[in-house]
Amino acid sequence: MASAAAGVEAGRDFIRDIIDADIAAGRASEVVTRFPPEPNGYLHIGHAKAIWLNFGVAQEYGGRCHLRFDDTNPIREEQEYIDAIKRDVHWLGCDWGRHLYYASDYFDQLYDWAEHLIRAGKAYVDDLPAEEMRAMRGSLTEPGRNSPYRDRSVAENLDLFRRMRAGEFLNGARVLRAKIDMAAGNMNLRDPVLYRILHAAHPRTGTKWSIYPTYDFAHGQSDAIEGVTHSLCSLEFEDHRPLYEWLIDNLPVPSRPRQYEFARLNLAYTVLSKRVLTRLVRDGHVTGWDDPRMPTLAGLRRRGVPAAAIRDFVQRVGVARANSIVDIAMLEHSIREVLNKTAPRRMAVLRPLKLVIANYPEGASEMLDAVNNPEDPAAGTRKIPFGRELYVEHDDFMEHPPKTFFRLSPGREVRLRYAYFVTCRKAVKNAAGEVIELICSYDPATRGGNAADGRKVRATLHWVAAAHAVPAEIRLYHPLFSRPEPEIAADFAAELNPTSLEILSESCIEPALAAATPGESVQFERQGYFCLDPDSIPGRLVFNRTVGLRDNWARVRAAGA
Ligand code: ATP
Ligand code: MG
Repeated sequence: MASAAAGVEAGRDFIRDIIDADIAAGRASEVVTRFPPEPNGYLHIGHAKAIWLNFGVAQEYGGRCHLRFDDTNPIREEQEYIDAIKRDVHWLGCDWGRHLYYASDYFDQLYDWAEHLIRAGKAYVDDLPAEEMRAMRGSLTEPGRNSPYRDRSVAENLDLFRRMRAGEFLNGARVLRAKIDMAAGNMNLRDPVLYRILHAAHPRTGTKWSIYPTYDFAHGQSDAIEGVTHSLCSLEFEDHRPLYEWLIDNLPVPSRPRQYEFARLNLAYTVLSKRVLTRLVRDGHVTGWDDPRMPTLAGLRRRGVPAAAIRDFVQRVGVARANSIVDIAMLEHSIREVLNKTAPRRMAVLRPLKLVIANYPEGASEMLDAVNNPEDPAAGTRKIPFGRELYVEHDDFMEHPPKTFFRLSPGREVRLRYAYFVTCRKAVKNAAGEVIELICSYDPATRGGNAADGRKVRATLHWVAAAHAVPAEIRLYHPLFSRPEPEIAADFAAELNPTSLEILSESCIEPALAAATPGESVQFERQGYFCLDPDSIPGRLVFNRTVGLRDNWARVRAAGA
């Protein structure tokens, strides 16, 4: 298994404390965990927390972690999702080895256990329509009422359940319910549904079944079949634990898993609900599950986020029992930590403004040396072309600058990175009064970027030589939602940030970038980290901004510390 980025110690948390105690007391001799996704969507960064916890704990204790698909609802599940989930777990650096399982592998066993409950008088077939069943369940303040079908004989229940299995009845006509207690304080114990009729083909079992177990009936028993010792799941399953325990107590299962709950990861400006992410994709608010604005692992990967950064982030977030919302700046910090060490530096001008050096010989050009990564001397240097006409960043010029602006303005001298000092002589404007070109002069004695007479400049700008510039489209991403805690009602379109995608189609990049390959990260000097998008075609390169350079998290931390 991969390790998190250097600098983050393996976490200590309440889950690890529990496992230590279980081992010390002899309650567990090995540690077996699992990550149990339902294949009804792509994995997101919240899942990464659960994956890293389950695989991490198993590795630390010399145990094993299973990947198990909880595929009990054929209506929402698809092979595409199964493939994507496997790809993403591997990408994150986790390996289930030969321990790949599916709840559907246990359908026969689960069915037998359902009959076992019926024979023990602990489950019954209910014919109540869904609405009536719901109405009779009561509420948090009112007990539920018994169904008129609750006291059917074992023989009648067995007969009806077998006919449900044989496909004799329509969807929704009957269900199998556990017979527990309609007055239980915990609603999950009010005769929960164990099986429902669903005439639907399953991606793995085809049309073999016309009844399917509910998630609650499949989940704990699947853990027991696999010998899972510690069933780690998020807090919303805490109220289901008594039901899981009731089932384990009443079935001849081969082992007894213990469930512990931890808080889900919540990220500001982000929604981590597969239901909502599915809507974003289906309704066309994003281009797909791997849209770089999506919090999915596929989206983050396409955006250029390295797996090591996600591991570092979830490790920093840690595991707790209290819900909280994590600042996006913290994720961005982890991304920069990783990319700063590895990404080669390149020059790219996002919003170009032409700069002409009036005293540079016409038609001449030269090659200058540029450092590939100041953090990594082994990355070496490269040659970059320089000439009379260049592009610089439009917002590196101001005609009437305030006191704190040290970049280009009339009469001001600045350094062009790896090249020369230039002084702005004049700004050329179009008929609309917009600046379209800067006329400058350069000092040939400053080649490489330093003046022999020791004079200083206060700004160093990036640039690209016009004759050698490669055109590129650059995509800048902003949060998908406008507010830190989006309110997700039936229609959440109003919560979406209308400017989450900003496309710069006139950008230009240095020639070395023409050889970039998708997924490879680079730092555009002074701009941020970028990577080539698979939408690129020859002659039309597309780069995604992974993250800007400014580290707000470091500032937040410094201010708060
Ligand atoms: P849905 O949004 O459809 O309820 P889910 O996100 O809970 O689905 P599952 O496939 O059930 O998706 O999740 C697999 C595992 O990942 C579960 O054990 C769940 O607890 C965990 N998980 C899901 N979301 C998060 C999150 N935001 N933070 C931490 N763990 C999560
Ligand atoms: Mg879930």
